[in-house]
Formats: sequence, structure tokens, C-alpha cells
Amino acid sequence: MPWDEIIGQKYAKKILKNSLKSNYLYHAYLFYGPSGCGKALTAKVYAQALNCQELEGDGCGRCFSCRLIEDGTHPDVIWLLPLKEEFSIKQVREIKRELSYKPIMGRRKVCVLLGVERLTREAANALLISLEEPPPEVTFIMSTTSPYRLLPTLLSRCQPIRFGSLPKEEIEEALLSWGAAEDVIPLVTTLCEGSLGRAKEYIDNEILKRKDVITAWLKNIEEGDLRSIFEITEVVSKGRVLEDLILILSILRRSSEPRALLPIMEGIVEIEKGVRFHTNTQLALEVLFLEYQRIIGQKSPSH
Ligand SMILES: [Zn+2]
Repeated sequence: MPWDEIIGQKYAKKILKNSLKSNYLYHAYLFYGPSGCGKALTAKVYAQALNCQELEGDGCGRCFSCRLIEDGTHPDVIWLLPLKEEFSIKQVREIKRELSYKPIMGRRKVCVLLGVERLTREAANALLISLEEPPPEVTFIMSTTSPYRLLPTLLSRCQPIRFGSLPKEEIEEALLSWGAAEDVIPLVTTLCEGSLGRAKEYIDNEILKRKDVITAWLKNIEEGDLRSIFEITEVVSKGRVLEDLILILSILRRSSEPRALLPIMEGIVEIEKGVRFHTNTQLALEVLFLEYQRIIGQKSPSH
């Protein structure tokens, strides 16, 4: 069943399911919470439940309507993303025109606006008029990571539904069900900070490649290669520093003994503080890796 696709978010699911069961439907919802926690997925599942041809007040996931919504091609379910970083007034006018027609094949028209904090003021005001006098048979679902950036008048016209970060166990469970390699699960769980979307990103691409590159550099550093120190510090200081530091720590944790690790951990904590205050990260990293090389050198004098 489509609802089972949503991991966690018991509170949001309960409110939406209850509204379907009692047929007390709000004309506008605001899904708010951190990115990658299932807001867009929930919007899709709710749209399926509103328009399913087999079930009343729920989605079957198999009928023609549910499948079209799954593919993003249902004529009555409109998905909208900001163009060029912002929602324009033109986009809002187009939705309004579109929503003035009756549903083509479903029971309700559903308009999903993702990242609604990026409405320009003009566009938000235009949307407000639709929310004040909603066309019948229309449901708006808006999502945002930062509700405090919305116009209060817009907020007051929506039913807010909070989405929370996912607990560690739920992330781990999801990663396992996606077939993620067991040795990266603790790392990805730490890095994604409760966001399943981010966890997926890590699994899908970069992080594993970065892990391999960083592992190779660390090995070179251990073998006394100074050039690797400059390479790693340059790359780390220009990229997502904190993520890379956690990555480095997780690699070192597995390969080094605790005695060698302690000063490194202290160094990383210092750099992490420094990153927030924009101190010279590259220099701090160089000092850290030179120290690491010294400790490793002491440990194995053969190098
Ligand atoms: Zn269905």
C-alpha cells in the first residue's frame, strides 16, 4: 500500500489518514520539516488516496489513477517546483488558470508546490487569493523546510503538518532495505542527520567515491608522502568540510589504534569549531595531518 512507502512520520500519516477517513479535507496543507524526510512522497501518496479509482479514502497503488500519479503524469495532479530558484508570478497565474477547470479524470485536483519558501512576494500574494477563495475540488499541498520564511497570511490559510527528522534506527532500516553495503551504513547514518533523502544521495553517488579517494590519501600520508597532505587539505578545505572530517574520522577509526586517534579527534573537533568561525581551515588541516604522520611514524619506525 502506498502509505507503507513513507518511512516514519507517524504523526503526519495519522492526521492525513484521519482526514480521509472522516472525509474532512482541508483545501490547503503545509508540510514542513527538514529536507529529505518524506514530504514530497507523502504528497504523492495523499494525492493517490484522494483520487484512487479502487478505494474510497485510500490509495491502492495499482489502479490507472494511482499509477499515473506515481509516474507524475496524472492530469489532475500538478507538481510545481520553483523556476530559477524562485516561484514566479507567471507560474502562480498558470496554476490558477489550470485549477479553474474541473478535474479531468479524478475526484480532486491536487496542486503540489515544493519549496514554497521560494515564492516571490508577488507570487505569494497571488497565491493567497486562491487560498482565500479556493476553487471547489482543489487541494493544495505546499512543502517547505523553513516555514518561518513564509508570509504569515499564507501560513494562516493552511493546515500545517510537521515532519520530523528520522531516528537513526529508521534510517538504518531503510538503508538495509535499499541493499546498502553494511560497512557504509554507520557512516551514512551519521552523515545524513535524519534525512532519508540525503542518505539516498550518499548511497547513490559521491560519498563512496570520496571515501576511496580519502582512504588512498591517508594511506599515502601514513607512508610519509607529504604531497598527499597538501592534496587532501586542499580538497577537504574547499568542499563540504564537516562531512569530509566525519568521513576521515570514520576511516581512521577503523584503521588506527586509539592512541594514535585521540590527538586526531581533538584536532578535528578544533577544525570543526574553526569552520564555523571561518578560520584558515586548510592550514589547520595541514597541521592535523602532519601531526597524524608524526604519530603514525612513531608507531611504525620502519616507515
Ligand atoms: Zn488506486
